[in-house]
Amino acid sequence: MDKLYEGKSKICYATEKSNELKMYFKNDVTAFNSLKKASYDSKGILTAKISNIIFHYLEKNGIKTHLLRVLDEQNILVKKLKMFDIEIIIRNIASGSITKKIGIKEGTIFNKPIFEICYKNDDYGDPLINDDHCVTLGLTNSTQLAEIKKVALEINQLLCTLFKKVSITVVDFKIEMGIDDENNICLGDEISPDTCRFWDENKRKLDKDCFREDLDDITYIYKIILDKLESISI
Ligand code: 5GP
Repeated sequence: MDKLYEGKSKICYATEKSNELKMYFKNDVTAFNSLKKASYDSKGILTAKISNIIFHYLEKNGIKTHLLRVLDEQNILVKKLKMFDIEIIIRNIASGSITKKIGIKEGTIFNKPIFEICYKNDDYGDPLINDDHCVTLGLTNSTQLAEIKKVALEINQLLCTLFKKVSITVVDFKIEMGIDDENNICLGDEISPDTCRFWDENKRKLDKDCFREDLDDITYIYKIILDKLESISI
């Protein structure tokens, strides 16, 4: 099948249907805008399995997503979306770029989730933009942006509830959204330890920060997340 797009962690292939794609989860992991790279044998299977559990859970709870069907351990069938060129970040606790840009101490708990928009552009390091940039630059219209924010905050609530069951705190996460051919705003991309920060009760990091900061083998860490999600009924 024709390769339509290859990103840092996934590849999209055409299918017989023009509005469906096959999405392959790569074993590669990158950080710091690809300055740091590696590949781990089972990584794609782990992120695919975790993301699929989360997407099924979100669908069950009323969130529209691109996921149509799991094809095998590392491939899924998805609805083709017209993706917005933005990354949406929700932060419950300060970590990562917000601690460096604004000087907020890591671990500071926000009294309400912070919604951030980044312009998806590797050449500029996915810069943080505001609502006006987003709408004036035509990345979304204002109605779409309001809907994106509402859905992102609902996803946050659902993720926090899910991970609380396995004693994990959702520190922050990044999602991407797009529009399907019926004009619905849908969640695309993936949700996994590659795209989220997860801390256990001892503030141990169980996500890609283990790779960014050379803390632990990420396949070992991602397996902890998968085992925990598989141990509960969702
Ligand atoms: P930060 O802005 O602190 O670097 O990232 C905030 C959250 O979004 C983290 O959970 C981080 O993993 C995720 N995130 C931000 N940008 C990207 C990106 O380009 N790729 C991936 N996989 N995750 C991102």
